[in-house]
Amino acid sequence: MLDKVLIANRGEIALRILRACKELGIRTVAVHSKADRELMHVRLADEAVCIGPAPSAQSYLNIPALISAAEVTDSSAIHPGYGFLSENANFAEQVERSGFTFIGPKAETIRLMGDKVSAIESMKKAGVPTVPGSDGPLPEGEGEEAEILATARRIGYPVIIKAAAGGGGRGMRVVHTEAHLLSAVNVTRTEAHTSFGDGTVYMEKFLENPRHVEVQVLADGQGNAIHLYDRDCSLQRRHQKVIEEAPAPMLDPEARAEVLEACRQACITIGYRGAGTFEFLYEDGQFFFIEMNTRVQVEHPVTEMVTGVDIVREQLRIASGLPLSIRQEDVELSGHAFECRINAEDPRTFMPSPGKVSLYHPPGGLGVRMDSHLYTGYTVPPHYDSLIGKLITWGADRETALTRMRVALDELLVEGIKTNTDLHKDLVRDGYFRQGGVNIHYLEKKLGL
Ligand code: ADP
Repeated sequence: MLDKVLIANRGEIALRILRACKELGIRTVAVHSKADRELMHVRLADEAVCIGPAPSAQSYLNIPALISAAEVTDSSAIHPGYGFLSENANFAEQVERSGFTFIGPKAETIRLMGDKVSAIESMKKAGVPTVPGSDGPLPEGEGEEAEILATARRIGYPVIIKAAAGGGGRGMRVVHTEAHLLSAVNVTRTEAHTSFGDGTVYMEKFLENPRHVEVQVLADGQGNAIHLYDRDCSLQRRHQKVIEEAPAPMLDPEARAEVLEACRQACITIGYRGAGTFEFLYEDGQFFFIEMNTRVQVEHPVTEMVTGVDIVREQLRIASGLPLSIRQEDVELSGHAFECRINAEDPRTFMPSPGKVSLYHPPGGLGVRMDSHLYTGYTVPPHYDSLIGKLITWGADRETALTRMRVALDELLVEGIKTNTDLHKDLVRDGYFRQGGVNIHYLEKKLGL
């Protein structure tokens, strides 16, 4: 087992990783910016190192500072959490080159999946269903217009132009008619160049009313891979997930069984190692792969609640060189789980609302889990993501889990700062959401956006 893990993250996920390490008897090193001295995991870790000033670029994204911190504390491995450097292949490479274990896939796998064109290509080869599209990058240069127009005609409008290096919902443009196609390709290419340093773009059929369904996988890099079923994360605003649930409700059973097995097989084919997520759009009973996340995700707890598998624990075991502790046939789905992302934000403008928390009371009871770093007296700094906690409920069935969420949200008290708790209270009472199966546009339509 790994001896000492440096947690290259902050907030609730740092605390989550710390807990898993403690359960496995692994010593922990917290790193923090100057603005984050008061974080709960910094207090609870065996050691803590300040890695730089408040801005992420100088602290949580500062690779030399992180590697130095690992060196001075004699850490054996680095867990990147999510966000920050978690999907940065250069970071993974430098961590390994410096003699530490990167808790995640190999750098080459991160690189392969980070380029959406190569990710789609390798998934297609591995038998995972993808969105009808341009089969590779769109051609660049004079005289290529005819081919681009022909590709769109073959796929059928509307189409979406996407940057191969895009991420975070940026670098995409929907085109409804041929008259707008070529200019949209050019603008997306220029933007991709400026934002991501890579002007490669590709084309996909634009699905008009899909749901966001994703598959959680675990692979040990020793030939064993399992899936932990699916999640539905369709409730989104500006491509940011708001509520997630597991399992995804109302899927076509055959298509679902096929896609789960295809994801498991794909892990073996690409030599995947660690925890990962295959993201799909789901429409008319069909799955369409859009991208793979090569890290633990914010919403992993809902899967843990319905499978009983501790995903972070498995990550740590895999990084220690141990085989998966569970076989596919031992993974059993039980009940239903929801997660509400609690953000420090103004409920009307959705702008961040940092500040001092004058009172924090997390809900509790059977089937209620609160993953949060908050405590009364803590000050939410203005420099980072506004996520301050995740409220997760489990129930024997969907209705029970949702009712439990309703009660838990009423019990959650965060005073002194503004939060999106009222939005969640409204959503869990929403008739359409309660029925299950709303699409990715539902929340924005409801909000009148
Ligand atoms: P990112 O890496 O920026 O998150 P994704 O490829 O995952 O980009 O796409 C982000 C979101 O954009 C999806 O969740 C979906 O809402 C929308 N989207 C992407 N591709 C399509 C498509 N082919 N049809 C319809 N919507 C799409």
